[in-house]
Amino acid sequence: MNIEIVFLGTSAMVPTKERNHSAVFLTYQNEGLLLDCGEGAQRQMRIADIKLTKITRILISHWHGDHVLGLPGLLQSLAASQYSGTLEIYGPKGSKKFLENVLSSFVYSEERLPIKVIEVSKEGLLFDTKTFEIHAYFLSHGIPCIGYSFIEKARWKISVQKLRKMKLKEGSWLNDIQAGQTITIEGKKIAPEDIATKIEGRKIGWIADTAPCESLNYIAQDADILICEATFHSLHEEKGEEYNHLTAKQSALLASRNNTKKLVLTHFSQRYKTTDEILEEAQHYFDQVVCAYDFMKIKV
Ligand SMILES: [Zn+2]
Ligand SMILES: [Zn+2]
Repeated sequence: MNIEIVFLGTSAMVPTKERNHSAVFLTYQNEGLLLDCGEGAQRQMRIADIKLTKITRILISHWHGDHVLGLPGLLQSLAASQYSGTLEIYGPKGSKKFLENVLSSFVYSEERLPIKVIEVSKEGLLFDTKTFEIHAYFLSHGIPCIGYSFIEKARWKISVQKLRKMKLKEGSWLNDIQAGQTITIEGKKIAPEDIATKIEGRKIGWIADTAPCESLNYIAQDADILICEATFHSLHEEKGEEYNHLTAKQSALLASRNNTKKLVLTHFSQRYKTTDEILEEAQHYFDQVVCAYDFMKIKV
C-alpha cells in the first residue's frame, strides 16, 4: 500500500502567484492526514481532486497564520458535508484556545462537525493505529511548534510455500501473524518468523518552521522522505536566525547526517523568484533532494 503525499502549499509567510500557504496531504490506507492548513488549503485540495471528507486528522505544527488560516473555511465546508465521525486536530499547547477563538469569529454550528483537539504535551509517541505511529517533537520557533513523524509499523509477509511445507491451512489467524504475533494453531505454536518475512515500515518526517535544534535529528533519522522547511539560502542566514528558520544548507546537512533517503524542501521565502539557488545549495551537501512545488505528488 502506497503512502501518497501531495503538497498543497509551499510558500513561506506570504503566498505568491505560484505558491500557496503551507499544507501537505498524506494518505495511507483509509487515513488522510492534513499537515497544516494554510489559507486556501481547501481550494487547493479541490484542484488536486482530493475530497475534503478524506481528511481523518489534522496535524498542526504551530499557530502562525501561514499554517492555520485555512482552518475556518475548511471546517465550515466539512461541517456542511456528510462528514462521519469525529475530526481529530493535533497541535501544540494552546491549540484548544486558538481554535475556539477562530471558530467564534463567524457563525459556525459546531453540532455538524464534532471536533476533538489534542494538545501535544510530551515528545515521542503521540498516537498509534494498527498500522502506523505518529511521533511528535518540540521544535524551536519562538512559539510552541511541533514536528511530526509518520512511522509505518513493520509487517510480516506470509510465504505460501512455507505454509504448505508446514501443512497449515490459510485462515484469519494469518492476520495475527502479519501483525507480528505468535499463535497456536492446530496444536502447533507458530511464530511470525516460521512462515513469514519481516518488512520494515516506512518513515515520513515533517519539519515545519524551526531554527536548528536537537529534535530535528529524531525526525530526520532514517526517514524515507523528510519534508523540511528551507525558507532561506545561506546568503540570508542572518534572516533565518532572526526569524527561527532553516537555510537550504542546514536542512541538507540535517538529512545527510541522519541517513535520510530523500529530502523534500518547502516553505520558501517569496524573495526567491525560483528555487534554483536553494536547490543548488542543498545539493552541495546532500544529493537526494528536491524542492517541492504546489500540487507535487510523491508516492513512497
Ligand atoms: Zn511559516
Ligand atoms: Zn512560523
